[in-house]
Amino acid sequence: MYSVPIKILLVEDNQADADFFGELISEARETNWSLVHVEFFKQALSFLSKNSVDVVLLDLSLPDKQGLSMVDQIHQAAPNLPIVVLTGLNDQVIALEALRRGAQDYLVKDKIDCNLLPRAIRHAIERAQTRKKLRQSEEQLQRLNEELEHRVAEQTDELRQKNQSLRREIQERQRLEEELRKTLFKEQELSQLKSNIIAMISHEYRTPLTTILSSTELLENYSHQWPEEKKQRHFQRIYSTVAHLTGLVNDVLLINKAEAEKLEFSPAPLDLVAFCREIAEESRLTAKTHHQISFESKCLSLKACMDEKLLRQILSNLLSNAIKYSPKGGNIELQVACEDNTVIFCVRDQGIGIPLPEQAQLFTAFHRSSNVGTISGTGLGLAIVKKCVGFHNGTIAVESAMGVGTTFTVKLPLNSLISQTAGAYSNSNQ
Ligand code: ATP
Ligand code: MG
Repeated sequence: MYSVPIKILLVEDNQADADFFGELISEARETNWSLVHVEFFKQALSFLSKNSVDVVLLDLSLPDKQGLSMVDQIHQAAPNLPIVVLTGLNDQVIALEALRRGAQDYLVKDKIDCNLLPRAIRHAIERAQTRKKLRQSEEQLQRLNEELEHRVAEQTDELRQKNQSLRREIQERQRLEEELRKTLFKEQELSQLKSNIIAMISHEYRTPLTTILSSTELLENYSHQWPEEKKQRHFQRIYSTVAHLTGLVNDVLLINKAEAEKLEFSPAPLDLVAFCREIAEESRLTAKTHHQISFESKCLSLKACMDEKLLRQILSNLLSNAIKYSPKGGNIELQVACEDNTVIFCVRDQGIGIPLPEQAQLFTAFHRSSNVGTISGTGLGLAIVKKCVGFHNGTIAVESAMGVGTTFTVKLPLNSLISQTAGAYSNSNQ
């Protein structure tokens, strides 16, 4: 027995039918009923908007409204409210359509009796409650599902982030390892360079020092009886040997600084044509009369921003090699040209050449080719040249054939060309 009264809204315009249904309900004493009867559909809607009921008994043919759309409207006004449709027609089609639209049950008025009506009402309420519970558990399930999806998405995201940070960590570690490997390699190179320098000093310094010592001793003991010309010869020998040793020290310091990346790069405006002319002139003084040194330029002046000291190292080392490794003399050419914002220096000789298999190591400090014979040298010049070219972001290439000659081509980008004067320039010492 329902202890709380079941509230019924009966929507029926036929008073006799309404009274009859009221009687049938009141006879069903095992349930507590409370019945409200309205005749018009709009009265029903108005009642539902202010009161709550447990079930609606709805006649489908009212004075102000007919048909199944009433089922929809009641559900809009009171969602989930069980509706039992009352129809005078024994019309299966309408009845089934009412169920499809959400009515709980339908009763054919002529066939309603004291058992059918209360039972239909109770079943309608129970079905609606079961449906409500079902919907609630579906909603709960849906919520749980969504929550689960959300959590899975969160965890996937967390995992992705962890993965990314792990990948970054690995990359950082690889970078550090690579840096460490490079530093180690650099240190090994520097330590190798130092051992080479020590070996070179002990080897290369001994003879010049002996020369200086012997000339000094001779001058000290015999100068009083020597003619002036012989004394001057020994002084000259001392001067040039000291100059040679100073050159060696300077080279060692320079390569050491360059290897330790401590060499200064200070570009300043300079006229490359005038500068090359000056270098060619200096080389002529070194070469004396054995070689013909010519200088050629495709323009009269070429003003650019470059480091003069480093450029001097490049050109004077290449020219001094050209002179030194052309023992039988011959033509030596220095050319300068400007093409596509690049300055190109060429130093060409007709000397001993460089064996092809050894050309790859030419710029390694202390490397000397196997064909130098008794020509003296330390193997530092080209290593210095390479570093100086690198500072200007340039390139150096060599073309050489044994017994034919060698050409070094240096290309330096003219990032800061200041001006260029058209014309051509050439000079030579013969
Ligand atoms: P230094 O340090 O006094 O310059 P070096 O001339 O031996 O000594 P690099 O100028 O570095 O050293 O040259 C390295 C080697 O390259 C030389 O020993 C020589 O074998 C070869 N080489 C360089 N220039 C020429 C050239 N123009 N013709 C032939 N061989 C050359
Ligand atoms: Mg040299």
